[in-house]
Amino acid sequence: MTHRRLSRSLDPLDDETLVGFLLRLARHNGTTPAQIASRMGLMDEMSAAPGVVSPWLLADMDKPRLVRAARAADLTVAEAGKLLLAPMGHRYGLVSHLYRPWTSPQQLGRPNRWVFMRTSQYCPPCLAGDDGPLGRLYGGAWKRAWRLPVVFACSRHQQLLSRTCPKCRAPAQFAPNGLIARPGTEDLHPTQCRATSPAPQTGTGRRSVCGTDLASVRSLRALGDEDSLGMLLALQHRLDTLLSSDGPQRVNSCGQLVPVAQYFIDLRVVATLVLASWPEASGFAATRALAQAIGREAEQRLRDSRRRTSGASKRPYGINSLLSPLESPLTMGAVLGIAERILDGREKQWTRMAVGPLYGSALALHRDTFLELARLPGTSSALQEVLGVAKGPADSSSPEPYIRGPRNG
Ligand SMILES: [Zn+2]
Ligand SMILES: [Zn+2]
Repeated sequence: MTHRRLSRSLDPLDDETLVGFLLRLARHNGTTPAQIASRMGLMDEMSAAPGVVSPWLLADMDKPRLVRAARAADLTVAEAGKLLLAPMGHRYGLVSHLYRPWTSPQQLGRPNRWVFMRTSQYCPPCLAGDDGPLGRLYGGAWKRAWRLPVVFACSRHQQLLSRTCPKCRAPAQFAPNGLIARPGTEDLHPTQCRATSPAPQTGTGRRSVCGTDLASVRSLRALGDEDSLGMLLALQHRLDTLLSSDGPQRVNSCGQLVPVAQYFIDLRVVATLVLASWPEASGFAATRALAQAIGREAEQRLRDSRRRTSGASKRPYGINSLLSPLESPLTMGAVLGIAERILDGREKQWTRMAVGPLYGSALALHRDTFLELARLPGTSSALQEVLGVAKGPADSSSPEPYIRGPRNG
């Protein structure tokens, strides 16, 4: 099938997602995101859900489809490839549609678990865009980095990211079906909330779109203390450096230099242990306020986990609530800060002493799940040694199987 070129194209913004690009392109062409997706060949015409854009296209797509989409939008294939999350896998560990779904504890090892595939975080001043004419018209990029839980703050604007719409409380960019909510709606700006408003329109009984402009949301700056914010921003800056394409190739984990993608998987494992064993690691928290924030969430999650794990159930769905990224950018940063300090030990013996009690109490909570976590594919051999687990059948000292780069680009 051939797809006609769009009459007006746009250059992708730095680190822009496919979703953000489609929204801006729709606005630019005075049409709906569904029309743009269809012209770019992104609709699932053959599948069980015709007329829907698969949310997984955010991660990657096959080469013929990418070439077609690029051509329709007047982009080079390399430019179109950069709109996808998969190329970030070089530094973050695999991101791919091949690993769906990933929602039960049995699918713990699915690498996409620590990627926000269905929602996005955001920084309001970034969304507001720059001062150029296009920035003023369509706002800034919905960034790829905001899909990663390890990005919890904006280094440029020195503030924590937001995750939900302040008015309707819906997670930003959540679409009940497909890639974009209300794909057939023409009159929403790319930075407006597309969720359904909680209150029906007066008189009609119909619920309307929320429409809050997320670019003008007041930012989460006030943490109560400047020390905590300073610590989190410094941590974000270090993590940004590791994620950046010109960042270092290797970084210290448990006293050994490991590829950056392995480091991020190590970070995820240790962060999960910190949460599951709380308050075991509270001594590592940078400030009291951060420790208290983690404490509140850990308590909530443990309660939730106990409620959902019934007695001797072999299917520990309740444990799921301890395995996902943290609920807010604040607690996410707080837990990552502790995980970073633990992995930063220059000697394995030190890290073993630091992480041992956390691992022990996580095992007491649910042995099988946390044993599996310790052997998570893609972790460094240094961390596996520290946790005392044998390596799996595949040699996980090589990050290759867990990284898929822009080979489709
Ligand atoms: Zn920003
Ligand atoms: Zn809203």
